[in-house]
Amino acid sequence: MAVQKPAQLTIQTILTAFSGYLSGKAVDSPRLSAELVLRKILGISRLDILIHSHREVSHEAYAEMEKLILRRGTGEPAAYIMGEREFYGRPFQVNPHTLIPRPETEHLIEAVLERFAHKGPFRFADLGTGSGCIATTIAAELPEAYGVAVDLSEGALATAKQNIKDNGVASRVTCIRADFTTPLFKNNTFDLIATNPPYVSQSEYIKLDPEVQQFEPASALVPGTSGLEHGTLLIELASKWLNPSGFFIMEMGFWQGPDLLKEFDKNPTKWAETAIIKDLSGHDRFVCGYKV
Ligand code: GLN
Repeated sequence: MAVQKPAQLTIQTILTAFSGYLSGKAVDSPRLSAELVLRKILGISRLDILIHSHREVSHEAYAEMEKLILRRGTGEPAAYIMGEREFYGRPFQVNPHTLIPRPETEHLIEAVLERFAHKGPFRFADLGTGSGCIATTIAAELPEAYGVAVDLSEGALATAKQNIKDNGVASRVTCIRADFTTPLFKNNTFDLIATNPPYVSQSEYIKLDPEVQQFEPASALVPGTSGLEHGTLLIELASKWLNPSGFFIMEMGFWQGPDLLKEFDKNPTKWAETAIIKDLSGHDRFVCGYKV
């Protein structure tokens, strides 16, 4: 089925045609995707769509929008088509080198802000920064935060660098291309480690949404067979890299809490107040702890 080109090209008729086409392709949120495409190509706001719905649109603009709608029809995520996704109220460039920032991860930011908002200057690390959303947001929200954003992927790190610059925090966040599962830093380097590492097991991965499997980088999602490979290692590394009283917080799979808490317990003299934090849907989603 092709997109049915409306006889008269207005915002309203095009929106109806695009939503109808995407509904037939069973992609998520067909109307929202259609709106996003119109907003991007026509340079209009959500409100413009409502109040200028009868405005006429050129054939050239229509053709440009149709191309993007056809991509969306294949299941390609809207964020990659738009090249952008909002995270904690700020725009982030995204592309197939980076995971698309998820709303769950905004809750990790909240947990950090609660603890560091009135702390004065501090040093942090975002390990596996991807689009750079965690490092950028921490630095943008907290003017006394100084950090490093680490990723092994050249493409991801280039994107993170751009996002860090575009959001005005390049003077306080340094990008490092490296494997964060190796002894990268000296002992007692950071006051905060905030990370959303790959944590999906191989058996979970094959059950993920086909859009995720087909378009998002597997290396950002799957660390190994069990899904716990990076998480367990990071707890061990954080116990060295953090300063005394430093805080560690990591996003994880909803079933991984007990395994990861056990990992802290292997070094009971090094950790205090270890805990699981739930995401907004009520799933266990983060583990955290203070270094003694
Ligand atoms: N830190 C990035 C994010 O939260 C990337 C995470 C990842 O690729 N595993 O989106």
